[in-house]
Amino acid sequence: MRIIDALADLLLGAQCPGCDVARWGFCPGCWAGLDAPPAPAPRVSGLRIVAANNYRPLLSSAIPRYKDDGALHLERALGLRLAVAVAALDPPAGTLLVPVPSKPSAVRARGFDHGARLAERAGRVLGLRRRRALVRRRHGADQQGLGAAARSANLAGVMRARGPLGKVVIVDDVVTTGSSLQEAWRALSEGGAEVLGAAVIGDADTSL
Ligand SMILES: [Zn+2]
Repeated sequence: MRIIDALADLLLGAQCPGCDVARWGFCPGCWAGLDAPPAPAPRVSGLRIVAANNYRPLLSSAIPRYKDDGALHLERALGLRLAVAVAALDPPAGTLLVPVPSKPSAVRARGFDHGARLAERAGRVLGLRRRRALVRRRHGADQQGLGAAARSANLAGVMRARGPLGKVVIVDDVVTTGSSLQEAWRALSEGGAEVLGAAVIGDADTSL
């Protein structure tokens, strides 16, 4: 065990999110399990969506630990996988990465804006800027437990784009039904952006 990993375990209880070995971030074996080519995650007609990995089994542990439990040491690895998904959309120089905005109450509860931070990480890898160009203008009801159609209806009109945009790629951590990406796409297109597609880390296709 490397000293930094022993310390991580001792001080923080840090573990590989895939196999729980004492570790600062992913262990080499689990990280290798994420090293797959990105794949299309079609959900929304007309919007190209690319996912770096399936949500299960590794990301279903890693992403909640990162964003809900504050395991910020996982951010670099997750940002790298997001960069892989963005790169698959082949964005030209000058493309903006626009994160799907979380509810302000969720950002306050977590103490950080995970979507913006992951976009920042991926952007640094690829030499692209990220901009928080989407804001939520009212609170949608909780999405949990809603089907795809209900989710879309619940989210319609929730987001608004701001600022000069140009070419953009929408980024998010996970795609489930695609309703958030669809709403982000609508708002950005209405705001004059040219949306090249959406990139996510995990594809949580519930139909599989
Ligand atoms: Zn592991």
